[in-house]
Amino acid sequence: MLSRLKLLRSANPQILRAQFLTSTFKSVSTLDKMTETKAKEAKLFSHNKVTFPRVIHQREYKYTEGKVYHGFRCERVDHISDFELTSYTLRHEGTGMELWHIDRSDANKVFSISFRTTPFDSTGLPHILEHLVLCGSKRYPVRDPFFKMLNRSVATFMNAMTGPDYTIYPFSTMNEIDYRNLQHIYLDAVFRPNLKYLDFLQEGWRLENKDIHDRDTQIVIKGVVYNEMKGAFAENAQVFGQNLLNNILPDHTYKHVSGGNPLEIPKLTHTDLVDFHRKYYHPSNSRVFSYGLLDLSKTLAILDKDYLSDQRCIDSSYSLIPPQERWIQPRNVHISSRLDNMGATINRQNQIAIALLMCDATNIQESFELHVLSEILIRGPNSVFYKNLIEPNFSGGYNQSTGYSSDTKDTAFVVGLQDLRVEDFTKFIELFDKTIFKAMNDGFESQHVESVLHNLELSLKHQSPFFGNTLLFNSTALWNYEGDVVSNLRVTEMISRLRESLSHKKTYFQDKIKQYFVNNNHRLTLTMSADELYEENFKQAEFELLNQKVKSLDKKKLKKIHENGLILDAFQKAKPNTEVLPCLSINDVSKPPKLPKILIQSIQNVQTQICKVSTNDITYFKCLFNITDLSQEETLLVPLFCSVISALGTGKYNYREFDTLVFSKTGGIDFKLNLIENVEDAKSYGLSVMMSSHALDKNVPDMFGLCQELFHNFKFDDSERVKMLIENYISNISVGVASSGHLYAMLGATALVSNAGKLKSLLSGVDHIEFMKNFVQQTNMLEICDKLRSIGTKIFNKNNMRGAINSTESYLPSAINHYRNFLQALPEFKKTNKISMINFYSPSCQQYVMNIPVNYCAKAFFTVPYMHQDHPSLRVLAKFVSTKYLLPLVREQNGAYGAGAKISSDGIFSFYSYRDPHSTKTLDAFEKTYEWLRSERQMIDPQSIFEAKLGVLQQLDSPIAPGNIGVDNFIYEVSQENFEKYRSGILSVTIDDLLDTIEKYFRKPPNHYGKCILGPANKQLELETSQKWKIIN
Ligand SMILES: [Zn+2]
Repeated sequence: MLSRLKLLRSANPQILRAQFLTSTFKSVSTLDKMTETKAKEAKLFSHNKVTFPRVIHQREYKYTEGKVYHGFRCERVDHISDFELTSYTLRHEGTGMELWHIDRSDANKVFSISFRTTPFDSTGLPHILEHLVLCGSKRYPVRDPFFKMLNRSVATFMNAMTGPDYTIYPFSTMNEIDYRNLQHIYLDAVFRPNLKYLDFLQEGWRLENKDIHDRDTQIVIKGVVYNEMKGAFAENAQVFGQNLLNNILPDHTYKHVSGGNPLEIPKLTHTDLVDFHRKYYHPSNSRVFSYGLLDLSKTLAILDKDYLSDQRCIDSSYSLIPPQERWIQPRNVHISSRLDNMGATINRQNQIAIALLMCDATNIQESFELHVLSEILIRGPNSVFYKNLIEPNFSGGYNQSTGYSSDTKDTAFVVGLQDLRVEDFTKFIELFDKTIFKAMNDGFESQHVESVLHNLELSLKHQSPFFGNTLLFNSTALWNYEGDVVSNLRVTEMISRLRESLSHKKTYFQDKIKQYFVNNNHRLTLTMSADELYEENFKQAEFELLNQKVKSLDKKKLKKIHENGLILDAFQKAKPNTEVLPCLSINDVSKPPKLPKILIQSIQNVQTQICKVSTNDITYFKCLFNITDLSQEETLLVPLFCSVISALGTGKYNYREFDTLVFSKTGGIDFKLNLIENVEDAKSYGLSVMMSSHALDKNVPDMFGLCQELFHNFKFDDSERVKMLIENYISNISVGVASSGHLYAMLGATALVSNAGKLKSLLSGVDHIEFMKNFVQQTNMLEICDKLRSIGTKIFNKNNMRGAINSTESYLPSAINHYRNFLQALPEFKKTNKISMINFYSPSCQQYVMNIPVNYCAKAFFTVPYMHQDHPSLRVLAKFVSTKYLLPLVREQNGAYGAGAKISSDGIFSFYSYRDPHSTKTLDAFEKTYEWLRSERQMIDPQSIFEAKLGVLQQLDSPIAPGNIGVDNFIYEVSQENFEKYRSGILSVTIDDLLDTIEKYFRKPPNHYGKCILGPANKQLELETSQKWKIIN
């Protein structure tokens, strides 16, 4: 919710996705920057009239304020007890580069370098530069060292992103050697990139003959970023967010599209890009971050000796962002969007939002309090906006832009709705005004405020394995504005100051509402409606742009374009000289990471998994219910059931009371459906529903009490509320198809392989969206409520469940006691354990036609499951094929943003492409994998196999949050022993194993496979592929 205004792009969407899904610690913002370090604490206290009892410990600090280390002066040292970390702020004396080091006992070390990059047009300059910087540097003159390093490292995260006003290059790894390797690559990349013209053509944009070997073919625009941005704006939520940013802050850099507007990108020249690099990638305009258990002095020495000693300090104020001048009257803007054929009916494909500019992001306490206030206004059924905007049920719920954002120099509050009628725009505006006036006059229920604050406090204790990464991302914007990022980490103190203010002044929040919501003319109302001609208009504009370009070309220039096309092609096909890049060795990765042991016990006849682990005074609880005896129709409704069950109240509490209780005592009660194939033989599969919750140890009895109440007394009798929840559910599952199209395409292809695959797609793929829409149209609400109630009665059965508890050693016995009492009272029926057999289908192909300018292609086929001896070889092969074949061909040569191959534990081997200008050409590349493997056999050498293994280890050894340790064993029943066996199976794959695997699984067309495309209609599809296609419109 917090960073919707930000448009982050990533060079590796999967890693970024995984990372952001794990973010739990929310950004909470922060006091005016105080330059006088010494006066800081004193000012803080007098200013706020709060006295904290404070014992001054004689801490041992590694660096001392005022001292100089390798050219860096240590300016400030702080201990932050909230997170058990010590923060060191250093500044390079020669260049003024700021370095922020967080010393914390965490093995997942982080490094990043960022620059303040403020675009002055929408050509995507900073974004294309971000791509180009990673295309080779002085010391590492390798084509695309970044992608090459993905396989020579065990990084837990590696990326580069362009925000609206900064560009950041972060990575994390648990291995010290790896850390230094990557650090060298990153630093050389940003400070000494080659920025070659050919790379500009490949990554940015270029004119090229459609067929490079034929000078007479049509000239077209190509380029990785060009296609990436076409794909990014295929998602309407993205278009809305981008326009919100451009229009609420229209006076400076934020009015431009930092990622690049596809119609503006072709105005960028290579010279502009080189000049921009010289100016903005200067050390004086950079910030370096390091985190974890590591020797900082090595970093300081590398920076000083290799990159900073020959540079001077320059005045970097040219990149500062001035505060936005406040408007004297509110503004309205209307935009059009693509008609989404998977979305709501056309008369409801509209969005509206009201955005209000708040405070300066560097005013951290104020920004923090506005963030809390926003949560109080928006989150859950007790909030006023939910009551007044959502419950009247005239929309598909909040849109993706809703929330408080502190990622721009001036922060903003946004509340918006999706899937509503144009006639209801006025209603929304009236309700918005009514709501803020009422909140200003009446204030808030104290229990509701408490539940928001409790959740914030709990999230501070909740440990994420990517704490350092999250801390970095939550601090990047503030740091970029020279805000006090260190004080911003003192969240407990900020909460105390807020509580103090609230207790001194009953109308504290009401006054803020008056100031920021009622008397605020810097208010933007943005509306968006689907336009049937949107895609056509874009194509027309693109066509005209191209025409204009082509018209100005004389013979000589046309000849040059043809030649460049051939040169680039040869350049892309040349063998990369990766030898100059560092690489880990087998000894660095031979041992699996040590994990705490898990125990299996029977408690009250319920199989229970117990894990003693340091959880920071939180107990994590999961239940898994076997649901194999549900009927087919009931099963298809389980995703909906999971999404609404805890939002309807119980016998004892209405839904508002229940929500307050849950969020005052726990981190929430969540449900999720799992379909798990048998990992030994893939002949059968099971279905289960997992409930998870966590709570501070002192609240554990309440957590079990609330779960018990829900399992016993869940309710489906408020059919109006169920109706509203279902409509919001359908709107939400329809968002994101265009931005995660590769996942939907793979699900669509898997659906053609077996009945289990088909079921998965019906439970979470495009087919699920269709099923839900039809189901709701054809079934009346009372009937739906009956069905959901009957599902609940069948699911919550003690005899069908397993439990898992992760807790600290000291609290564990109490946790188990409470768990035992909880089990005693659970409903108990006959045990059911039906096994569903997997049936495979004959090969087939299908396309989901989407009104978007890019494609997502996938092919899936069945091989062998996780426990089979060939699975490790297939997994290594998938990595090998991704990096050596698919990325060079489908991404570099054919211009897709991403491509790859993977195998899942059920034995489905899939190929995919991401934001792809082609479809049949890519499917053809998938088909020719065997041919390529045969002809490039010499590429299968020990080094490339080792690299592929490292790629697999990145996934296997990825750090796990304390609350999630053992979850694989719990869900998939893969024991730690079997996991270690599998891991050593990966390490021992040989060249011969790979060659055997290739012959065994790739030579003949598989017996069971499916192909799927998500993308625009293509009349030539059957002709170009010589196959029959099922077209789904
Ligand atoms: Zn990009």
